[in-house]
Amino acid sequence: MDSNLQDGFGRTIDYLRMSVTDRCDFRCVYCMAEDMTFLPRQQVLGLEELYRLAALFVRNGVKKIRLTGGEPLVRKGILTYFQAMKRHLDTGALKELTLTTNGSQLAKFAGDLAACGIKRINVSLDTLNPAKFAEITRWGRLPQVLEGINAAKTAGLRVKINAVALKGFNEDELFPLVEWCGREGHDLTFIEVMPMGEMGDIQRLDQYWDLKDLRARLATRFTLTDLTERTGGPARYVRLNETGQKVGFITPLTHNFCESCNRVRLTCTGELYMCLGQEDRADLRAPLRASPDDAVVIKAIRDAISHKPKGHDFDYTRQSVKGQMTRHMSHTGG
Ligand code: SF4
Repeated sequence: MDSNLQDGFGRTIDYLRMSVTDRCDFRCVYCMAEDMTFLPRQQVLGLEELYRLAALFVRNGVKKIRLTGGEPLVRKGILTYFQAMKRHLDTGALKELTLTTNGSQLAKFAGDLAACGIKRINVSLDTLNPAKFAEITRWGRLPQVLEGINAAKTAGLRVKINAVALKGFNEDELFPLVEWCGREGHDLTFIEVMPMGEMGDIQRLDQYWDLKDLRARLATRFTLTDLTERTGGPARYVRLNETGQKVGFITPLTHNFCESCNRVRLTCTGELYMCLGQEDRADLRAPLRASPDDAVVIKAIRDAISHKPKGHDFDYTRQSVKGQMTRHMSHTGG
């Protein structure tokens, strides 16, 4: 292994979020327009390019990789990427390979993912009501996702549900969601939306649900114990004493994790974002395509990371597909 990746503030970067596609089989109203145009294929990194980059990050000390999208499991041939990455899990150089998914393809992939050494996955699911699910995802169907989540559980994958907290939408499902996760043995994390601006077709201000309020409502029924665990990201966790469940909260405006930030984000076009909430980025696709010499690419990665900013100035609109938020690309901890 080469030496670890360190930024200019002495932080070690050992977590890479890697978007493998901008495509998705859903059209969530807060993420994509229904008639979304996707990137031309030649701009998107090929699977071999994604693998080469991931392997270089691992060689340079990255211990955890999370695949995101769009929807990572709609990327054609993605299983070959997981199969190739398994050797890094087997050697122990990579401690965790995981993904954030909408769950639609899990029934097909769960067994293979488990066989590739995947242990945990995040599934984005905002409601357990089939009609509301169809409304918010436009093209998604709840039974397909629930079937996928079951398949993941059966395959031995630990599931964390990520629910975007939306006032007037899933407010009434706070306890049903918590109880369902408790019964099924899934962890649950709520994600707060930005209070201002447009979020796809949704007016955020109308839908903004302060997680402090959500937490207070949870406390009317459960005794909450704060957990000290930190992921190097914005998530904070509590334990519900009565059931033993873990519930997380992600507030995008939180600043208090920057000093322990351990992560960078790669887009499917090969742009490395040094801070999840800032514009600073570096193009890795050009050096990757220009040279078979890994040293050139490693130098580009190191140069980029040495410029990682100290803290963030969070703005979802700057890191989104066509100006809209996707929770899979976003700052969603984990
Ligand atoms: S939020 Fe996720 S599931 Fe929904 S359209 Fe965006 S990428 Fe797809």
